[in-house]
Order: sequence, then C-alpha cells, then structure tokens
Amino acid sequence: MNVLIVGAGINGVTAAIALHKRGHTVRLIDPGPIPHPGAASTDISKAVRSTYGSDEDYTELAERSVRRWREWNEQFGLTLYHEVGMLFVRRSLMNPGDFEYESFQVSKRRGGRLEEMDQKTLRARFPAWGENNFGYGVFEREAGYAESGTAVSVLAAHAKDLGVQLDQGCQFTRLDENGSKVRGAIVNGNDRIEADITVMTAGAWTPYILPFTRSFFRATGHAVFHFQPADPSLFAPERFPVFGADISTTGYYGFPLNRDGVVKIANHGPGREMSPDSTQRHVTPQEEARIKDFVRETFPALADAPIVFARICLYCDTHDGHFWIAPDPDRAGLVVATGDSGHGFKFAPVLGDIIADAAEEKDNPLLKKFRWRPEVRPGAEKEGARYLQEWL
Ligand SMILES: Cc1cc2nc3c(=O)[nH]c(=O)nc-3n(C[C@H](O)[C@H](O)[C@H](O)COP(=O)(O)OP(=O)(O)OC[C@H]3O[C@@H](n4cnc5c(N)ncnc54)[C@H](O)[C@@H]3O)c2cc1C
Repeated sequence: MNVLIVGAGINGVTAAIALHKRGHTVRLIDPGPIPHPGAASTDISKAVRSTYGSDEDYTELAERSVRRWREWNEQFGLTLYHEVGMLFVRRSLMNPGDFEYESFQVSKRRGGRLEEMDQKTLRARFPAWGENNFGYGVFEREAGYAESGTAVSVLAAHAKDLGVQLDQGCQFTRLDENGSKVRGAIVNGNDRIEADITVMTAGAWTPYILPFTRSFFRATGHAVFHFQPADPSLFAPERFPVFGADISTTGYYGFPLNRDGVVKIANHGPGREMSPDSTQRHVTPQEEARIKDFVRETFPALADAPIVFARICLYCDTHDGHFWIAPDPDRAGLVVATGDSGHGFKFAPVLGDIIADAAEEKDNPLLKKFRWRPEVRPGAEKEGARYLQEWL
C-alpha cells in the first residue's frame, strides 16, 4: 500500500517505521523542522512508568515499552531513556480506589515492580523531599524518563535511512476525498498527494485540521517550567527520581536534574483549551504563581531557584483519556492516531505497531480500547486532577 502519514511527532515517526517494515511505501510529511518546536513530543523529558492505577492494559504496555526503550538505547548508542526510577507519593494513606493503592495491587499481581514508600524512607533516600508530609506511596525502579525531542530526531533519521520518504516543509491542508473515500491529501494549499491509506498523526493540531473530530478531541495547553537549583546535588537523578506528588488529585509531577542543570516541573491538570498555533500559547502569571507555591511547599531547596524556561505544551485530549488509534468508519482510507491525553510518549517503542495494525485493520486487543468512539462523552475520565475547578 501507499501510505501517507501526516505529522512527524512520535506517533508519526514510529508509525512510519512500523509500516515501512511491513512492506508498505511510506511518505511522512511535516511542516518541520523535525522535531517541530510546537509539537508535544518536542521536550527534554517525558515520564516512562508502568504505574497506571488499576489499568492493567497500560501497565502491560508500559512494561513492554521499557524493555524496548533499553534496546533502543543500545541500538542507537544513546541514552534516550534514563532509568532513574519514579516515585508516586501522597499525603494520606493509600486506600482502595487511590491511584497509588491500585497501582501497588496491580504490581503485586504482576511480580512486584513497585516498592512501598513511607516518610522515613522517602527522606532518607530522597532528601529534597524535606519536611513535607508526603508520607505514603510507591517507588518504581524500572521507570524513568525519555529524552523525547531527541528520540523523535533519532527515529526520524532512522526512518529516512530505512527508506521512508520524509518531507519537511510539507503542510497538510485538507483531505482529498471522493465521496466517502479518502484518496490522500491536499498539501501546501493545492498540491495533491495520493495514498491508499492516510494516517493522521498531527497531535493537538488534529481538531483544527480535521474539524469533524472536534466533537471528540480537545487541544489543551499545559504549563511546563524549568527550575535551576542553586544546589544541584539534591536533585541529581539518584537522589531525586521522576515524581508524581498526589498526582491524581493535584496533578503535580517533575523530573530530576538533566545534563543542562534544570529540574522540570509541571501539572497534569485541566489545562486551557487552545490551538497549538494560538496567540494565547504562553504561560500566565497565575500558572507561574501556582507552580511556585507547590515548589516552595514541597522542595525547600528549590524555593528560590529561578525559572529559566517556561512553555505551554499541548495535549490532544479524548473524553475518556485513552488514545484514539482507529480507522474512520465513515471515510475509507483514513486512520486517525492521536488522542495522547498527556501520557502517550512512554509507549513510543510499541506505538508504531499499534498504529500499523489499525492501518492494516489487523486484530489487536488494544484497538478496542483505542477504537473510534464519538459516543463517549466528557466525564468518563477518572483522573480527578484533570478537572480541578480552581485551574479552570
Ligand atoms: C506538558 C506535557 C507533558 C507530557 N508528559 C508526558 C509524560 O510525562 N509521559 C508521557 O508518556 N507522555 C507525556 N506527554 C504526552 C506526549 O507528549 C504525547 O503522547 C506525544 O508527544 C504525542 O505525540 P504526537 O505525535 O501525537 O503529537 P506531536 O508530538 O504534537 O506531533 C504532531 C506533529 O504533527 C505535525 N503537524 C501539525 N500540523 C500539521 C499539518 N498541517 N501538516 C503536517 N504535519 C502537521 C506537527 O508539526 C508535529 O510534528 C506529555 C504531553 C505534554 C503536552
């Protein structure tokens, strides 16, 4: 088949590699440069963890991904994935229904990846956590973060080496439709690219470039901050793993010091609905004030650290928080693979094959979860922090 893939973020590059390996002729387009500065994938770090509450599908998928991340590190001779561990701690006891409790139960059933954390152990091992009262939770050693922007560059170059036609400077304008059949795309205003299958992997741009998806996708902007600590030693990866602090109710999470000496902290909350090209795509004073309050209360040694960089990164949200990787039942020849909902990057090593299965209409149990489902309405999502009223 001739396959056109629109958008060279992590979904697009991994889909291109998988489909090429299956013998298809693949063309991957993006306005560029790759990694695109506005793409969700273009970042210094994304958390990689199998801790997923009671959701064993994502847990299993993440376990597989971690094994492949290690192989990628070997294959590309680069540390794209840093296995520094991840902490999920909370202020109150873990109880049934809580994200940390349910994750711990799943872990026990699956061989015990998670170890339980208490306040004494937390302070002894991870001293930046100071005198705060995050006394309960779990630690996952086989977790960490991926250097996401670098991973996209490396994989795009790899795709090109394999024989994928990679067109930068090529912008999707609209689908080329013939009745209910999609036969490719119109790009850069009026050029036509023919394809048997068109795979849309345009992330948060999707609801804007495919307007009929607006009833089930929302692009939301989330503030991300880089702090530069005066005493970096407290934030070194071995003493300060990736963390979620009461993640399901507050949304706060962050990363250890990277090689540029910054600690990244952000909030997995409701965000603000906007287009990735919006003029509102900048951090507000309120967002900055909230993150500083959290940092002051939680990490005393970071309280006076300057913010050296801030950015709005966009999720493509679905109404239930699950990915959307599916052929369009009303448009033959079109596959939409997006809906990251802020948690898709970790799955990079396995995403390409899932998207390729959708394009080939192959059986894959996960494709039921990620199916075409316009009937799902907002509110099915379980993460409380994504609905915090004070953030809206
Ligand atoms: C703040 C933030 C934090 C996150 N944290 C994590 C995390 O810790 N762990 C995790 O697993 N995931 C995380 N994610 C989610 C992760 O970033 C996404 O799952 C992933 O990057 C989505 O990749 P994508 O390829 O779908 O979209 P993108 O990376 O946004 O790529 C879309 C591509 O489409 C291209 N495009 C747009 N318009 C057009 C057009 N008209 N024509 C052609 N191409 C076009 C763009 O240039 C871009 O290259 C986070 C996301 C955000 C925003």
